[in-house]
Amino acid sequence: MSQNNIRNFSIIAHIDHGKTTLTDRFLNLTNAINERDFTERVMDSNPIEQERGITIKLAPVRMEYEYEAPNLEFKNSRFILNLIDTPGHVDFSYEVSRSLAACEGALLLVDSTQGIQAQTLSHFEKAKELNLKIIPVLNKVDLPASDLESVSLECMEAFGVSESEIISVSAKTGFNADKVLDAVIERVPAPDGKKDKPLRALVFTSYYDIHLGIVASVRVVDGQLNANSKLYLPSSQTQVNPVEIGVFSPSMKKVNSLKTGEVGYVATGLKSANLVRVGDTVMEFEKKNSVSVLPGYQEPTPMVFMEFYPIDGDDFAKLTDGMEKLSLHDSSLFFKATHSSALGNGYQVGFLGLLHAEIVKERLSREFSLELIATAPSVSYEIVNTQGKTITIASASQFPDPSIISQIKEPIAHAIIFTPEKYLGAIMQLCQDHRGKILATEKVGSRLKLSYDIPLSEIITSFYDSLKSVSSGFASLDYTVKEYRAVDAVKLNILVNKELVEALSMVVVKDKAEMLGRKMVKKLKEVIPRQMFEIPVQAAIGGKVVARETIKAYRKDVTAKLYGGDVTRRKKLLAKQAKGKKKMKQMGSVQLDSDTFLAVLKQ
Ligand code: GDP
Ligand code: MG
Repeated sequence: MSQNNIRNFSIIAHIDHGKTTLTDRFLNLTNAINERDFTERVMDSNPIEQERGITIKLAPVRMEYEYEAPNLEFKNSRFILNLIDTPGHVDFSYEVSRSLAACEGALLLVDSTQGIQAQTLSHFEKAKELNLKIIPVLNKVDLPASDLESVSLECMEAFGVSESEIISVSAKTGFNADKVLDAVIERVPAPDGKKDKPLRALVFTSYYDIHLGIVASVRVVDGQLNANSKLYLPSSQTQVNPVEIGVFSPSMKKVNSLKTGEVGYVATGLKSANLVRVGDTVMEFEKKNSVSVLPGYQEPTPMVFMEFYPIDGDDFAKLTDGMEKLSLHDSSLFFKATHSSALGNGYQVGFLGLLHAEIVKERLSREFSLELIATAPSVSYEIVNTQGKTITIASASQFPDPSIISQIKEPIAHAIIFTPEKYLGAIMQLCQDHRGKILATEKVGSRLKLSYDIPLSEIITSFYDSLKSVSSGFASLDYTVKEYRAVDAVKLNILVNKELVEALSMVVVKDKAEMLGRKMVKKLKEVIPRQMFEIPVQAAIGGKVVARETIKAYRKDVTAKLYGGDVTRRKKLLAKQAKGKKKMKQMGSVQLDSDTFLAVLKQ
């Protein structure tokens, strides 16, 4: 098929606005999947993604569609439509931008019962920057709460489109889904790459296959990608002899070549995810010195860090195996071994954001049956020491001695909050409490777009939940990390029975340190079981104790009443206790069990 009959497009939407459902309708319409094989939500393949209704990673789908609408230019011709899906969550905004870069157009899907949300806006801005043709689509028109008139007005204002450009659909019933595909053909330009130029293909996502190795999804920008050519990935300086190349239709179908403008996959045979990076340019090995890379490549940078420790120390090997397997699929997952005197061997893990962290943790527990203790999420800090050298730390345990610190810098996020006007006061208060600085307010229809600078460390705690709660669920948030800025921060230590519990230490803003310290020791007092002796629980900054609680002694000798009784019963009881101890972590003279850690860390 000629380059003129190819359309590459994406769907951008706020979470739950119906992207996956609409994609399913497209697959029905183009018979990409026969009825027998069709399971709802074909696109969300991972069980955790299915349950949560989120899409993190997926392959592009190639559909063939016959245009039958009135436009004579296209009438009765067949088109290849490549739908390149994007992850819907802020954690994955770089992947979103690369997926969009592989397209010429985007469906901007808005739930007509909800209206525009923060993610809709930020994705729109990315699509606009990349010069994509935008097709506004209002979804869920089958629902009584659908308010086409006001949501149309909102779209016209926010996206600068005219009313006639807007298509109303029901992804659920399939109403007007064909009109959307017709519009893609009519309005989205064909890919304009040069077929006579040397090969350049953009990697926009990848996954691991046990037989094929890392499989990269690519969009051929210039030239042609041949199955038998020797390829090269400049950002990891890796040579690739493809195992096979092909297209997702939506199951994998081998082809001999991918031509200019086409979208497909390259099975690299490589076994390490970080050799195949999103945003990299696939080129021919022979031409590697004469071809320039495609613009926009970025190294993946983890934003949120946690430490994982197996509750049962014997499970460390299992955790290692789990981390290695998950990282095969996920080039943005960073991990390195670490050790804590309280929690034993574990890993420090870097994630793109909190959702990413949660999903990884959940997969470790489900797919590898691992019970884990996870430390509180932390951002990374840049610390300039008195000799002018900068080190980056990602956990309180790496915090250097304060006497050698000359400056601490923390990551600042640029946040967009989109909200109905009436919650403005509450949201401004919330942002202020989280050290936010307002940059701009802008009216969009009946709503407000607020731009803020907020320290990332404030956002990764309970900010999002609080935002939802002060706005009755109506405000939405999107953010990207912009820069590092100086902050007055300290390390808050927690001592149980005068011993430092490193796993509970935190880097906190100086102004909030005392308040947080008081909260921590209070919580610990509630959850640490009483022992035979009195236990002081303290929060300290350096040598200075800022908060203290005392857990009173408690006498209980479980075997006392059995003295003189049945020996086997007593042994049984002791054995039961010993088993219970496996889950305990010895804190010097005090044992904290995993539930204690979870209760304190999960606040
Ligand atoms: P995504 O997060 O954008 O992929 O959204 P989903 O496709 O997962 O849809 C979110 C929810 O909205 C699901 O429960 C869908 O069944 C529902 N939904 C999607 N489109 C429609 C529609 O046109 N009408 C109705 N009534 N529900 C829809
Ligand atoms: Mg989805």
